[in-house]
Amino acid sequence: MTQSATARSNDSDIPSDPAVREALAWTQSARFLTTASLLTQLPPPTLPEVAFVGRSNAGKSTAINTLAQHRRLAFASKTPGRTQHINLFEVGPLDAADARWADLPGYGYAAVARGAKLRWQQVMADYLANRHALAGIVMMVDSRHLFTPLDQQLLDFVSQRVATGEVKLLVLLTKADKLSRNDAAKALAKAQKVLGQLATDDADISVSLFSALSRQGLGDAALTLRQWVPRAAPEAPEAPAAPAAPLSPA
Ligand code: GDP
Repeated sequence: MTQSATARSNDSDIPSDPAVREALAWTQSARFLTTASLLTQLPPPTLPEVAFVGRSNAGKSTAINTLAQHRRLAFASKTPGRTQHINLFEVGPLDAADARWADLPGYGYAAVARGAKLRWQQVMADYLANRHALAGIVMMVDSRHLFTPLDQQLLDFVSQRVATGEVKLLVLLTKADKLSRNDAAKALAKAQKVLGQLATDDADISVSLFSALSRQGLGDAALTLRQWVPRAAPEAPEAPAAPAAPLSPA
């Protein structure tokens, strides 16, 4: 398991590492694609997808907006009637997106009627278990509370796909600015212990402190997301026209 508690914890507005700059430029290309309430309404799984999941209020929308450097990109999912939908974003060059992000409904919000809750949890479970394009999951967990029973259930639910390495996992311990340095280090250690239970030789699991406010962990999160998506092969330069072969020996 990788962890990145200290690396670049003071991301300035212009990171000096070119790889981080490139990764942030990539995450900032995120734009809204479509919204779906059923898996069948999603576009064909032609690009790798990364799902953003988290308990309501964990800071998921804020994290997506911070990665995208777009104040309201993920807040569409908060408008009444949209809370149970999967919102899809496209990332990469405008004319050649290379990945999609799926903002899945937040879970554990008490005020939602039981029927609706079950229905959307089913949509989410269905997506996480069956979507072939799913390449990675970013799970937002409030650094002050760490994994709630619902987060644990979700981890159990995806553990099989994570164990084989088919689906990568990044846990962002959000709102890290609300913790002292010492408490943040303790939270990170506790989260690593929990995630250690999912670790296998093939699994790709990372955990990082994250703050939208201070931008702690932003560069690392962008780098991880960028690394999950294979780069499009650079177009081969056009081969110089071969001299026409003589039809018959001169
Ligand atoms: P979501 O329900 O998971 O999408 O959560 P939101 O992104 O709406 O965040 C929930 C609350 O936490 C909001 O009041 C945010 O302003 C606050 N919040 C989110 N991220 C941070 C952070 O990094 N630091 C602080 N201090 N507050 C945050």
